[in-house]
Amino acid sequence: MKKVLILGGGFAGVQTAIELQKSNQFEVTLVSDRDYLYIYPISIWVPVRNAEFNDVKVPLADIRRKYPFELVIDKVKEIHSADHQVVCENQTLKYDYLVVAFGADKMKHKGIENTLSICGKPEVSLAIRDEIDALIQKGSGKIAVGFGGNPKDKSAVRGGPGFELMFNIHNLLKKKSIRQNFELTFFAPMEEPGARMGKGALPMLNKLFDRYQVGKRFGKKITGFEPGSVVFEDESKLEADLILFIPASAGHSVLQASDLPLTEAGFIQIDNFCQVRGLPDVYAIGDIAAIEGPEWIAKQGHIAEFMGRNAAHNIIESEKGTSNKKGYQEHLNILCVMDTGDGAAFVFRNSQKSFLIPMPVVGHWMKKGWGTYSKLTKVGKFPRLPGM
Ligand SMILES: Cc1cc2nc3c(=O)[nH]c(=O)nc-3n(C[C@H](O)[C@H](O)[C@H](O)COP(=O)(O)OP(=O)(O)OC[C@H]3O[C@@H](n4cnc5c(N)ncnc54)[C@H](O)[C@@H]3O)c2cc1C
Repeated sequence: MKKVLILGGGFAGVQTAIELQKSNQFEVTLVSDRDYLYIYPISIWVPVRNAEFNDVKVPLADIRRKYPFELVIDKVKEIHSADHQVVCENQTLKYDYLVVAFGADKMKHKGIENTLSICGKPEVSLAIRDEIDALIQKGSGKIAVGFGGNPKDKSAVRGGPGFELMFNIHNLLKKKSIRQNFELTFFAPMEEPGARMGKGALPMLNKLFDRYQVGKRFGKKITGFEPGSVVFEDESKLEADLILFIPASAGHSVLQASDLPLTEAGFIQIDNFCQVRGLPDVYAIGDIAAIEGPEWIAKQGHIAEFMGRNAAHNIIESEKGTSNKKGYQEHLNILCVMDTGDGAAFVFRNSQKSFLIPMPVVGHWMKKGWGTYSKLTKVGKFPRLPGM
């Protein structure tokens, strides 16, 4: 059997491992530096104590029980595609096919240590929770939530979890009857953060900011962070006891020690079939890959998953010697249930249409339900529904 080596145990890598294992035609090995899949979309509830940290994790061992791929817990250090080799901290691995899926790093900002990010390492959600708890204990404070851009790759921006976190914090403080003692402000360098979600999104976001009395600082470049403040290009500052900032994604640092073709922003160059340009036996999927598509496109979990499914299909077809390959580009869309803690909005955009459906109360429970569904399907305890 040919050996497929999958690097990364996130949405993209796990989906590829499941599909290839189901085909029973390959020796599949997945390498991850953590022993669990982290379901990022539901991690926004950890800081507001609406979910436990462990509820967001799916142990890779549980996924393996249903789909028995080989699991290696190790850190990838270098990829040498010319020698079909991957160097990890504790071993060097060989492959016939390689699937690179270990996500992205973050843009570096001056003074970033004065902020916490819900999109960083999973454990940071606990640090955010502790900081919010401390402010609640104190009874008052200023909280700033924001996100940044990557001028070299617009698809690398991640704002959705910032909005969700801000609205969830508002509702938490309201429930505790102390909302009036807090100043909440959202900041972003774009004039219209959230615009990529489509026509309906901006009026809805503005309505929520007004209804929840969240201040806005938009359209000014962020030059850095200091203890207790965000600093903007005109030298104005936004003061806050807690700064929750999501830097845009940047190419993974391991790729700098590898021989794969990269874009200027440091993401791996792929074709429509997720094949790395010039390397027919190497695929790159999920956040680590450079996605080509309309200017509004964003890297998302469901895109990582369908790239994973396509990569598996394309490897299987390559082995059969057919040209029956599946591309990712025609399926590009934005799809999310943006949670507010007391409801949600269903957001959809593709090249033909865009719409947003407000779903008070029920939307929150739909997202909760999706979290359970996502975890159960990964361990094979619930069938995958078409399109979900
Ligand atoms: C807070 C948050 C909320 C989100 N909400 C949504 C949402 O509602 N809807 C949606 O569609 N998308 C959402 N996303 C985006 C989505 O989670 C990502 O697009 C998705 O996780 C990308 O999957 P991935 O497998 O490419 O990368 P990741 O999920 O980042 O997985 C990468 C994996 O590689 C491992 N790894 C990293 N470096 C190494 C190394 N050197 N060696 C070995 N292993 C390594 C990591 O441990 C991890 O297991 C959200 C993201 C965040 C952060």
